[in-house]
Amino acid sequence: MLPIIHHHAGWVEVICGSMFSGKTEELIRRLRRAQIARQKVEIFKPKIDNRYSEDHIVSHDSVKIPSMVVDNAREIFDNALEAQVIGIDEVQFFGEDIVQVCQKLANMGKRVIVAGLDQDYRGEPFEPIPQLLALAEYITKTHAICVICGNPANHTFRTTESTEQVVIGANDIYEARCRNCFIPPDSGKKKKNKRKNNEVVSD
Ligand code: ZN
Repeated sequence: MLPIIHHHAGWVEVICGSMFSGKTEELIRRLRRAQIARQKVEIFKPKIDNRYSEDHIVSHDSVKIPSMVVDNAREIFDNALEAQVIGIDEVQFFGEDIVQVCQKLANMGKRVIVAGLDQDYRGEPFEPIPQLLALAEYITKTHAICVICGNPANHTFRTTESTEQVVIGANDIYEARCRNCFIPPDSGKKKKNKRKNNEVVSD
């Protein structure tokens, strides 16, 4: 008689893209499927993200799912040991430690699904997503729609002057923009300077 092999290989899935691209909706969709299959699911989000709801993951269209708010990657590991499927939203806020935690959990046979921003407001890769992309078995890039021209949008444009990498907000300070319509903050400064110089010259 052939032995029955129970295969418990884990893996990492990354869902990433700009703001307003449906990352959280996609994360919720996958986690709901797992819950319907009666798999044990744990969902985490960082304390920094207190938009809309304290103990739920909420997407921009208000679909929600109960989640645990945690301070750091270690807390995720400690609370994920019983789970078969682990969801982590806004993963870019957990820093470098989250990479090891995702790897360890996947090595233990768990399905780890993370969602987050792949670029910051300057259009630069947002760590630790680049490392997670390299290590993941499955990658999904989600796209928003450019508010200027309607093309698929891959960038998050900040409409305020702030130069902090993390400024929490939604459509009050951020817009989805395509490659053509996205203006990195540095080039904006150059344009402004140029204009000033021209004014000085013309005066
Ligand atoms: Zn555009």
